Amino acid sequence: MQKETLATHFGYNSKEGFGSMAVPIYQTTAYDFGSCETAANRFALKELGQIYSRLTNPTLDVFEARVAALEAGRAAISTSSGQAATFFAIANLAEAGDNIIISNKIYGGSTTLLTHTIKRFGIEARVFDSDTAEDLESLIDANTKAIFFETLSNPQIAIPNLEKIVEVANKYNIVTVADNTVATPVLFNPLLKGVDIVTHSASKYMSGQGLSIAGVVVSSEGLNDKLVGNDRYEHFNTPDESYHGLVYADIASVFDIFTLRIRLTLLRDIGATLSPFNAWQLIQGLETLSIRVKEHSKNALEVAKFLENHPKVKSVNYPGLESSPLNQYVKANFTGGLASGLLSFDVGDKETAASILNKVKIFSVVVNIGDSKSIITHPASTTHQQLSDEELKATGIGGGLIRLSIGLENAKDLISDLEEAMK
Ligand SMILES: *Cc1c(COP(=O)(O)O)cnc(C)c1O
Repeated sequence: MQKETLATHFGYNSKEGFGSMAVPIYQTTAYDFGSCETAANRFALKELGQIYSRLTNPTLDVFEARVAALEAGRAAISTSSGQAATFFAIANLAEAGDNIIISNKIYGGSTTLLTHTIKRFGIEARVFDSDTAEDLESLIDANTKAIFFETLSNPQIAIPNLEKIVEVANKYNIVTVADNTVATPVLFNPLLKGVDIVTHSASKYMSGQGLSIAGVVVSSEGLNDKLVGNDRYEHFNTPDESYHGLVYADIASVFDIFTLRIRLTLLRDIGATLSPFNAWQLIQGLETLSIRVKEHSKNALEVAKFLENHPKVKSVNYPGLESSPLNQYVKANFTGGLASGLLSFDVGDKETAASILNKVKIFSVVVNIGDSKSIITHPASTTHQQLSDEELKATGIGGGLIRLSIGLENAKDLISDLEEAMK
């Protein structure tokens, strides 16, 4: 089935919901097992079924199944935020004493999480240049557990050298994690390019109208094979004392062990679980994801073309532009050569950037992206404010950089709004 069909039908049988066309919201904390034996069998994974809504919920099941299908993955697990998805993906691979290698061009929250917070858990982050990935191999050692990057980075709108990253990762049997929030599965499927795990902030395009905070982790069809018998990931191949000695590798023929381990340990213990209501809202978002992302992209291209020819603009980062060095790659690899609704441009200095933010009328000064309403952001003073000057320089975010998340308004109105604000 094609993505549009999967997004509207996959993973839900209306017969199981009293014929309800809309996926029901199962607003419940717990489930009636009916017998002591059933309860024991569910906990022992001998019988599949709902256990407790911190771990599983039928509404979340549908959202997870649809995202997995859209990403051409084997399984997915939802989380209460994109940040939780990133944390779970990494914490499921690395532990104290390990290191991870992260791209220099990632979301500000991912930088603080992966370089500062996770450091306090004893996991060191090493930064590589994802544009070329030339330095990637030199950063790897026996304790390297993950390589993390974004497929379309927020806010530089850069695209990593994916082929090289996958090649190096496979050479050393290291798991790759790609944050596909901005590209969305509509435009790009990292798992089909050899990436092992995809993460999303579902709060953005998947939610679509800025309604819910959520995240999701998706694992590839081949991930079990990469983990089983791999010395780097001993915790998948030795007994898990926290789950009565379960060896994940032993049940790899039945389960996707990566998402299963997140569910049985990290979600169980940390509890960053998505709410059924938010999962339901995301299911509505998925149904229109494909048409929305295409419209966002078309609008963004028109705005990018306007900015490119504006005398006050030093440069525009938008891979959908013919003039972008990334345009050939986008045309060859992204659906319809489309490049999402996110773009950024440089007006030289902070003062000019601030005056534009203060003058726009249709654009809202907000730090979200992927909303149907257009958004303007100054990353250096907001999303990336906690980064040091050195970190900002390394990520390529100067004081004059403005990020736009182009919504679903008419592009003509957005262009005149910017034109007025830039006078
Ligand atoms: C927003 C965002 C996140 C974090 O997601 P939340 O849902 O806000 O926790 C992670 N990665 C990218 C690329 C994002 O844009």
